[in-house]
Amino acid sequence: MPELSMMPFVPSDVCLKCDGCCRYKSADSPWRPKLGEADKQSLAAAITDGDVLDDQAYIKTIQNCGQHFCRFLNQSDNTCGIYAKRPLECLLYPFVLSQTPDGIKVYVHLSCPYVQDHLSRSDFDSYVSYLKEFFRKEGVRAFLSRNRAMFHDYSAFAPELLHLFDLLFLWPLPDNEN
Ligand code: SF4
Repeated sequence: MPELSMMPFVPSDVCLKCDGCCRYKSADSPWRPKLGEADKQSLAAAITDGDVLDDQAYIKTIQNCGQHFCRFLNQSDNTCGIYAKRPLECLLYPFVLSQTPDGIKVYVHLSCPYVQDHLSRSDFDSYVSYLKEFFRKEGVRAFLSRNRAMFHDYSAFAPELLHLFDLLFLWPLPDNEN
């Protein structure tokens, strides 16, 4: 996603040693990245193969030893094959945008081990402040507005999520996107 750049919360060396992300319990897991139009444009060269996205624009998985891996994950070294242009959902994680009946809400995913270690630390609060500023930027708002199709509802995972703030500028969605 070259249009936006943001400081990650979890250092990349920590991510590379973790086997939590980019793999799922089922091929239809809602935790797979879902692409909006802006993501699709950024990743045009990587998604030309019709077998990359399902009919809802989720990235399809590859099954191996009972697990379902994002097809862009290099399983040998845990790296992402499209890291520089990875979808917005991947860039934001462990922060999650959820489309609820009340609006677009920003949560943090409490299942992330790095979040569990840092939730009560000042660097977590600082990052949430940074994130609020990030979402105030004109370019970010424009990108999100063009990427609305990526939003989905994580309400079913409420026990794993901590609500942080809402993205009021994106709400209400146009009628044909609700
Ligand atoms: S696109 Fe990259 S970062 Fe996102 S789930 Fe797939 S391998 Fe992980």
